[in-house]
Amino acid sequence: MLKVENVTKYYGDFLAVKNLNFNIDKGEIFGLLGVNGAGKTTTFRMITGLLDKTEGEITLNGKPIDYTITDEIGFLTEERSLLTKLTVKEQALFYGQLKGMTKKKVESELDKLLERFHITEYKDRKIKELSKGNQQKVQFIMSILHSPSLLILDEPFSGLDPINIELFKQVILEYKNNGSMIIFSSHRMDHVEYFCEKLLILVKGETVLEGKLKDIKDDYKKKNIEIIGDVKKEELLKINGVLKVEKSGQEYIVSVKEKNYVNDVFDYIKTKKNVEKFVVEEPTLNEIFIERVGESYEK
Ligand code: ATP
Repeated sequence: MLKVENVTKYYGDFLAVKNLNFNIDKGEIFGLLGVNGAGKTTTFRMITGLLDKTEGEITLNGKPIDYTITDEIGFLTEERSLLTKLTVKEQALFYGQLKGMTKKKVESELDKLLERFHITEYKDRKIKELSKGNQQKVQFIMSILHSPSLLILDEPFSGLDPINIELFKQVILEYKNNGSMIIFSSHRMDHVEYFCEKLLILVKGETVLEGKLKDIKDDYKKKNIEIIGDVKKEELLKINGVLKVEKSGQEYIVSVKEKNYVNDVFDYIKTKKNVEKFVVEEPTLNEIFIERVGESYEK
């Protein structure tokens, strides 16, 4: 288990992360989210031992973070961290041996992973000669080469086409199913919804929302109703509890304050003749994120 307890980080007088708390169990993918400058990278660096925390405690499988435990962590950073003058194999040997692997083990693991990511032919090519997407594959391979028990993925799909995004998703799920702990960070809320059962949102270093995605959605009172039919925006807006009405293509999306107001909209629909669709939808994580982060910014 990864345990982050009451962790605070100051850069000089500047408070970058305030009293952060979360746990990740084996086989769990945890979403760590926030807008630019929220404190995510600072948190990753403290977990990987690259940066000292000011206060609090971080333990991985019961042991405090130090150089003996960092071999168990893999980190795919948002900024490229490859030695681009090296070949893929040279980079793997350098990095793998730093993580305590033998040369033989690095070579056998690298061969398996290059094949899995369909880039075997680039093994002896300089990294700088590879395309952006293939460099991202190499970067991902480096973060999992040593089979870490904790894997930190910061915008892992950056620069990838849709087919390779699917490939990365499969590999990430394989790691989860094999019992790895994964921290997943992305500005793409649809990807976060796909992977993460638990998540935390940081705003200016403070936790503004934390918990299971399902509970977060249940607690968020607003609901969306999708309607296709002969309805009028101005009439919908007059209904009790309706907050906003948007038209997208043929469809009207009606936001209501909470579940109880759905019936008022339904009563209105019953007075109309041609209604083909009436569906109540959960809010998306994107909506919740924008509202919660927006609220916290205004404080
Ligand atoms: P992004 O999504 O843009 O990568 P982030 O959530 O990763 O952002 P951090 O890089 O952790 O954010 O930065 C958090 C805050 O700490 C920011 O206000 C940043 O300017 C500040 N900060 C980061 N590193 C330093 C440093 N070395 N010295 C002083 N302030 C820093």
